[in-house]
Amino acid sequence: MYRVLSKRYPDVKCELDFQSPFQLLVAVVLSAQCTDKRVNQVTPALFKKYPNPSKMAGCKIADLEDAIRSTGFFRVKAKSIKTLSEMILSNFHGDVPQTLDELITLPGVGRKTANVVLGHAFGIPGITVDTHFGRLSRRFGWTSEEDPVKVEFAVGKLIPEKEWTNLSQRMIWHGRRICHSRKPACAACPLADLCPSYGIGEMDKVKAMAMVKSDADFR
Ligand code: SF4
Repeated sequence: MYRVLSKRYPDVKCELDFQSPFQLLVAVVLSAQCTDKRVNQVTPALFKKYPNPSKMAGCKIADLEDAIRSTGFFRVKAKSIKTLSEMILSNFHGDVPQTLDELITLPGVGRKTANVVLGHAFGIPGITVDTHFGRLSRRFGWTSEEDPVKVEFAVGKLIPEKEWTNLSQRMIWHGRRICHSRKPACAACPLADLCPSYGIGEMDKVKAMAMVKSDADFR
């Protein structure tokens, strides 16, 4: 199944725009309960004004809130971003840490966020279990676990570590484009022959094809 996914989505990349590990970290914090597309609309101006931890730590919280308002939960996110910037300066010499244990000491940063940063900013393999990854892992029959950390460990045993970051991205892409949460487009799915859940979604080929989202829907 993973080989089929790799063929379907050969060029995997993070859909958030960033130019440094710090910018990716901030973008991932902003992406909670928000689309990547919306985050990418907000970050160019944000990173122009506050490109690094020292500028971000020195910002006025009200200005930061204004800049990220459209991403939702902006007060909590602004507080997390300002505080994590201060902590990167005081605890990590101004550099985003490169271990999971250190990253999750930062406010607003859980295992999911940390693994995205490790994988896409530092090339350190990590499994990012978001809602798509969990749902697809269960539909694929890879695990019956519901808890994201348990899903992470269960699937990690099935797929080689060097593939973990790409795997995460491919699962997210497949979840967004074809294996939708409410009604998956089964009749248009490249995994149809292999997936034990084939048939739970749309089985009319024409209707299923119309449900498939393209890259353009996320940019
Ligand atoms: S066959 Fe259906 S349930 Fe299985 S991965 Fe494809 S869209 Fe999802």
